[in-house]
Amino acid sequence: MNASGLAVDARQVGDLTEVALRGAIDERFDLIGWGHELPSPLAIDLGGVEFINSAGMSQWVHFLGEAVTRGPVRLRHCSEPMVTLFSMVTDAVGGATVESIQAHYDCAGCGREQVVELMVEQDLVERAPDGNVKMPDRPCPECGGVLGFAGHADRYLAFLRNE
Ligand SMILES: [Zn+2]
Repeated sequence: MNASGLAVDARQVGDLTEVALRGAIDERFDLIGWGHELPSPLAIDLGGVEFINSAGMSQWVHFLGEAVTRGPVRLRHCSEPMVTLFSMVTDAVGGATVESIQAHYDCAGCGREQVVELMVEQDLVERAPDGNVKMPDRPCPECGGVLGFAGHADRYLAFLRNE
């Protein structure tokens, strides 16, 4: 776990406010106080979030809830802890658009493990016969075999119904 809590960064790119959060979202950083005046539209990079606890979760829900009342919010590179949260807690993603997520893949052939980035609107549109969204396989750069998602796709992607 990250000992220094959360590192935050915000910059203006044209009309867009680009925010990056890295580390742990918990009680050590006042995310609500820091974020309550960020101008919209917002793009929030969550690729570096390694951990979120229950105090962090209530901060995040409050922070996001305020942000979406000011304008569009896009969530990018969402790390596994954040995707898991989005899929368990409807309010954790409510009103925002998830642009891309990260997922842990592994190769049945050589055992390689890799974090794969998936674009929601391009990579997560194919449906399995049971109606659930299918997570695409990727070629393994190590052995040429198949990298596949290691978890339960329908559970991991439940946030697609929560947006
Ligand atoms: Zn392999």
